[in-house]
Amino acid sequence: MEDLKRATFAIISHPDAGKTTMTEKLLWFGQVVRSAGMVKSKQGNYAKSDWMEMEKERGISITSSVMSFPYNERAMHLLDTPGHKDFSEDTYRTLTAVESVLMMIDSAKGVEAQTKKLMEVCRMRDTPIVSFCNKFDRDALDPFELIDDVEKTCSIQCVPMTWPIGSGVEFKGVYDLRNKTIMSFKDAKDPFSPNIIDASDLKADHIKEFVGETLLEKLEEDLMMIEELMPEFNEEEFLAGIMTPMYFGSALNNFGVKEVLDTFSKFAPGPGEREVLKAPFEKEETRMVDPSEKKFTGFVFKIQANMDKKHRDRVAFIRVCSGRFTRGQKVTLARTGKEIKIATPLMFQAQDREITEYAIPGDIIGIHDSGKLQIGDTFTEGEIIQFTGIPSFAPEIFKRVLLKDPMKGKQLDKGLQQLSEEGSVQLFKRHNSTEKILGAVGVLQFEVVQRRLEDEYNVKGEYEGFPYTGIRWVKIPTEKMKDEFVSRYSANIAYDIKGRICFIYRTEWDLKLAQEKFEEVEFFKTNDFK
Ligand code: GDP
Repeated sequence: MEDLKRATFAIISHPDAGKTTMTEKLLWFGQVVRSAGMVKSKQGNYAKSDWMEMEKERGISITSSVMSFPYNERAMHLLDTPGHKDFSEDTYRTLTAVESVLMMIDSAKGVEAQTKKLMEVCRMRDTPIVSFCNKFDRDALDPFELIDDVEKTCSIQCVPMTWPIGSGVEFKGVYDLRNKTIMSFKDAKDPFSPNIIDASDLKADHIKEFVGETLLEKLEEDLMMIEELMPEFNEEEFLAGIMTPMYFGSALNNFGVKEVLDTFSKFAPGPGEREVLKAPFEKEETRMVDPSEKKFTGFVFKIQANMDKKHRDRVAFIRVCSGRFTRGQKVTLARTGKEIKIATPLMFQAQDREITEYAIPGDIIGIHDSGKLQIGDTFTEGEIIQFTGIPSFAPEIFKRVLLKDPMKGKQLDKGLQQLSEEGSVQLFKRHNSTEKILGAVGVLQFEVVQRRLEDEYNVKGEYEGFPYTGIRWVKIPTEKMKDEFVSRYSANIAYDIKGRICFIYRTEWDLKLAQEKFEEVEFFKTNDFK
């Protein structure tokens, strides 16, 4: 994989749209997993990649991981994202580490809530998107309806690359709009060499026979509409994130999957420039880091605990952004200025991970972390910089932490601090009080933290309700105003783990009043404001 251009991408979807199935099939086509079904099976035979207890119990994927495989002269890195909405923060952060995204849609349902939210994050970053309308072996919405839905809900221009002929029991296959061929669904026994039918003349007898009169009529009408209404695929617009090529198929039946993989290997962008803040950070000066720069840089976008139950380890995932990282290299953790030697950098191949000798831009390496690393941490060869755009999102649910065993206060503090730094939950301290508040986007995050406090820190974390519904990071222009603001709203002031001031509120109305009263104070929903 040394010289291959990287394609680092992720799949986004609503739970049940088929992300796991697609991941499994992509790996299969990438020939890493020889027999599909190894990654995850709903029958309860969990493969070793499904390592978390909670995942087993609930049948949901909770944490992200990386799967790498070579395909068509590209080194593909597929980053897994949790499907459950309670862990969407993990997904948002994973999206900061990729250059492109595959959007999976359940064709009977259209764009669902979770996909919509994740697409908003992609659109914010202009991430190029490939779309796949899945489950055409079941009754599906009309493809025009699906396109309309994607265009309206995701504000992106769709360009069909294939076109479905029928759906459900009537599903014949897809018409390839560029090659004017039909790929037959029924004969898709060998997905590596599917039965391709010449369809340059739709009036030909073999087409009539294969498609059937009613569906052929509809296909002809549809193709006319497409020609009239739809633009051609334009690579630049795809790369700018404003146009999405669209495929139709059935991941479960390996149908249409290879075409998606081919598209990624052909068009997915390689690593690009990324913005960093330069030291001293207060000055807010930035520069762009180019992947071709000689010196290594990278940032932590994900910290995963318990990847291997036996070792109780914690792995920080680093996205390499420039230069070349070599095993054993000493790198600088820009936040502390300290050098650390990375002796055992890990790379991931489906279920396996192995020590790698090097990594280049676009690659993801995992390093063992004893609790010192934080989400967003930047690694360099000495330069003090900070990658931007790896935000925390304002939590919407809050709980007060109760210390049940006063002897274990220190352990609890340490556990909460570390779990918060690795992004499992957000920890806030209230103004003029020792009270600790946890904030999360979804309730399951609290459960995970409770369990991990017990497992890893040997302390029982208990919570009680905290009747606040929102929080904003605030930027106050002067010290004087800061004093006024804090004394006026002392009950609403909290500090995040970096000591930044936050305004915590019970109702949107409270927020609005504060905003009106202090017009010059800025309120932010994410913590990456400048
Ligand atoms: P995830 O929650 O998005 O990861 O979805 P899964 O991949 O686990 O799929 C959810 C369900 O849909 C599973 O029962 C799959 O077998 C099923 N599924 C996935 N793809 C297809 C498909 O193309 N056709 C049909 N009929 N079912 C599918």
